[in-house]
Amino acid sequence: MRIPEETIAKIKDETDITELVASYIKLERRGRNYVGLCPFHDEKTPSFSVSPEKQIAHCFGCKKGGNVFQFLMEIENMSFAEAAAKLGEPLNIKIDTQTSNIAESDMTFIRMHEYMTGLYHQLLVNTNEGEKALQYLLDRGFPMELIRSEQIGYAPDMPKFATNALLEQGYNEETAYQAGLVSRNEENFSYYDRFVGRIMIPIKNHQGHLVGYTARSIDGSEPKYLNTPETETFKKRELFFNLHDARKHVRKLDNIILMEGHLDVLKVKTTKVKHIVATMGTELSQENVSLLERLSSNVTIMFDGDSAGRNATLKVGDTLLKRGLNVYVQKIPDKMDPDEYIETFGAEKFEQFIADEQQHYLHFKAEVLRHEAKENDMKLTQHLNTLAGDLQFVRDHLTAERLIVTISSIFGVDKQALSGIIPEPVRQEPDYRIPEPVREQMTLRQKKERYLTKLMMANREFLLEYRDALDENVLTYRPYYDIMRGLCAYFEAHGEFDISMALNYLDPALTDTLIELDGMSIHEDVSHSEINDYLEDLSGIRNSEYEKQEIYRKLEVAERDNDMELQIKLTQQLIELNRIHKM
Ligand SMILES: [Zn+2]
Repeated sequence: MRIPEETIAKIKDETDITELVASYIKLERRGRNYVGLCPFHDEKTPSFSVSPEKQIAHCFGCKKGGNVFQFLMEIENMSFAEAAAKLGEPLNIKIDTQTSNIAESDMTFIRMHEYMTGLYHQLLVNTNEGEKALQYLLDRGFPMELIRSEQIGYAPDMPKFATNALLEQGYNEETAYQAGLVSRNEENFSYYDRFVGRIMIPIKNHQGHLVGYTARSIDGSEPKYLNTPETETFKKRELFFNLHDARKHVRKLDNIILMEGHLDVLKVKTTKVKHIVATMGTELSQENVSLLERLSSNVTIMFDGDSAGRNATLKVGDTLLKRGLNVYVQKIPDKMDPDEYIETFGAEKFEQFIADEQQHYLHFKAEVLRHEAKENDMKLTQHLNTLAGDLQFVRDHLTAERLIVTISSIFGVDKQALSGIIPEPVRQEPDYRIPEPVREQMTLRQKKERYLTKLMMANREFLLEYRDALDENVLTYRPYYDIMRGLCAYFEAHGEFDISMALNYLDPALTDTLIELDGMSIHEDVSHSEINDYLEDLSGIRNSEYEKQEIYRKLEVAERDNDMELQIKLTQQLIELNRIHKM
């Protein structure tokens, strides 16, 4: 059951964001807005701004905030329904906190996973079928209590166990396939279990709903780990394993530890260290990074102590550092992972290790690069320049000073010389205006997509008319595409654009982009032909037509000149163009 739209609108209309925020932090009037010290991150000058006019609150430092619901969800760590219930109380609006703002189709996938998770778990702990898997887990040091609380299960060695179990529950095979629980044979369209003979570790999304699995083989069959495929509810780019459970600890400590392995996280959960999540791969998506940014300003990477782990650390570390986060590395001894560390040294030693040995990411990177350069002078210089470039992203002055000392000593250079080549920081102190996007960093294409998104935001009729045409080929920049989808849902229920209300239809990670678009001014009169031009342009039809004409022209010349080689090359280009833009 969803909370009725009218109820949400009523709560929103009758709750004043300024009052709500003021019950948590001290606000001061500044022009049309109020400002205060951000409740979500540590700061000395206020970056948290509340707009009574737009009924939104937003931090220009850590980007947290949103409308009344989102503010409360964030600050009280509540679900949407819980926040609505709390805001509804003084207004005498009763809301069942079991209801949610999740689409019914997503709820179906979630229920299927809940049902299968229960079955798999029973099989693991209570049957002969699961005995071997259970023994394996116990032998590896996973206590029974953890196996129960995490609902770890076993998918039996039967090709149609889940398929039949879900059919019996009244779900059809196609839905089970869409949910990622069964696979489909594309030749005869038959369905069979995706997970067979594997230990099933359930994965929850950040709201705590079961959306998928990572499944480990125990008989040596490949792949060692098999994940749920991408589905409507299982989107790797938005997921971290264990985020739901770790969230409150992360908030308390203002630190989050990233690990590679799901089993590592589970093993660490048996210790007192709780602010841990696992990435769903070795690369972080934009959505992943935004999610981290909103949770904590300090991120610690704790990947495996092998060369793959080291390379992944460098990749993830660079991404996070450049986003302005404080990045640390917890350096696991050679050829170990966190699980093995605990097995070898025990939980207490591990807790001590976490408390004592966090290294700044650039300290770690300097050591790796120094080691890698050996005695190659050219590489040493290159690496020093790289590190100097990285140092501009370290915002804390004292940390930067200490790193300059550390890095210059690792490379045996004078610290004055190193600090002399650090570029000016790219980031400015935030001010209270709606931030202009960094225009020069936008490509022409992105600017066009941005403009089109804004056009649609301002014109409900156009948006509903063009919704099908606004697909991923037109809006290739993911945040704009996601905003457009959210706007479609918003405008189905609402006549006019109201940013605070529209935020309910979007992932919180998009709040920033939406505020930025809201502040953008465009001319009012838009025509069909203008929009058609944009669509044609962005979908690539016009550009490729132009390119083709160009190639035909060159082909004629090449034929005249009898240049066989060029003719072949141009023909290949034509084929390639046709392949890209199938028309
Ligand atoms: Zn903040």
